[in-house]
Amino acid sequence: MSAAPPTFDVTLRSARMLTPSVRELTFQRADGEPVTFDAGQWMSFVLPLAEGEARRAYSIASPPDGDTFDIAVTHVDGGPGSTYLHALEPGATLRAIGPQGFFTRPRSDDAPALFIATGTGVTPLRSMVRDALAHGHVKPMIVLVGVREEQDRLYREELEALAAAHPQLRVEYTLSRGKDDWTGRRGYVQTHVPELFRELEPSGAPHAWICGLERMVSAVRNVLRKDMSLPRQQVHSERYD
Ligand SMILES: Cc1cc2nc3c(=O)[nH]c(=O)nc-3n(C[C@H](O)[C@H](O)[C@H](O)COP(=O)(O)OP(=O)(O)OC[C@H]3O[C@@H](n4cnc5c(N)ncnc54)[C@H](O)[C@@H]3O)c2cc1C
Repeated sequence: MSAAPPTFDVTLRSARMLTPSVRELTFQRADGEPVTFDAGQWMSFVLPLAEGEARRAYSIASPPDGDTFDIAVTHVDGGPGSTYLHALEPGATLRAIGPQGFFTRPRSDDAPALFIATGTGVTPLRSMVRDALAHGHVKPMIVLVGVREEQDRLYREELEALAAAHPQLRVEYTLSRGKDDWTGRRGYVQTHVPELFRELEPSGAPHAWICGLERMVSAVRNVLRKDMSLPRQQVHSERYD
C-alpha cells in the first residue's frame, strides 16, 4: 500500500484573476520547505467553510521545481469551496494534503502529445508542457483547449509565447460561444481531436492527456478509444466532477 500523502500548511502568497471567472492562487509552504510533486498532480485543501470543514481538490498549475505552486480555480455559482478560494486574502494559511494523483507525464516520456482540456482542466497540462519544455522535450505537442468565449482562454498569452519560442509546441482553441468575428475553431473539443491526433502520428505513437469535467472527458475518451481504437496506454485522463 502506498503511504498517505503529506499534510502541511500553505500560505497564499499572491492571487490574480486569469479570466472573469478564474482566479489563480500562488501558495508556499508555511514552513518554507519545497513542495515536491510530478507535473499533473493535484493538491487537496481543507477549507474552513461557515457550514463546516470541506476538502476540495485542485490541480497544480505550475511546473515542479519552484518554491511556490499555483492553482487556478473556476468560480462555480453557489459553490462553497470555489467561492471561499476566490475571496481568500494573501497571507491566509490553509491546510493542504498532497501531492496526489496518477495523471502524471513522466519526464522520460517524450512521445508526441495531444493535450486536451476544457476550462481550468488546462492547469495540469500547463504544468506538463512547461516541465517538458524545461527538460528538453523536442517531440511535437499540441494543446487543444475548449472554452466559451475568447476572454475565457486562461494562460493564453503564456501558452502562445511558449509556442512562439518552441516550434514543437502548438496551441489551439475552440470556442463554444465565439463571437461572429472569431475565425478559429468552434464547438466541442472532441470534434477536433481526430484531425490533431493524426497530425502527430508521423512523429511516433502520440499520447492523449485529457482533463476537465466528466462529460467532456468521456466524450473525448470515446472518440480516441472507440472510434479511433487507441490502446488504453495512450489515453490518460483526469476528471473534476
Ligand atoms: C482531481 C481533481 C482536480 C481538480 N482540479 C480543479 C482545478 O484545478 N480547478 C478547478 O476550478 N476545479 C478543480 N476541481 C474541482 C474542485 O475540486 C471543486 O469541485 C470545484 O471547485 C467546485 O467546488 P465548490 O465547493 O465551489 O462547488 P460544489 O458545490 O462542490 O460543486 C458544484 C459543481 O461544480 C461543478 N464543477 C466542479 N469543478 C468545476 C470546474 N472546474 N469548472 C466548472 N464547474 C465545476 C461540478 O459539476 C460540481 O458538481 C478538481 C477536482 C478534482 C476531483
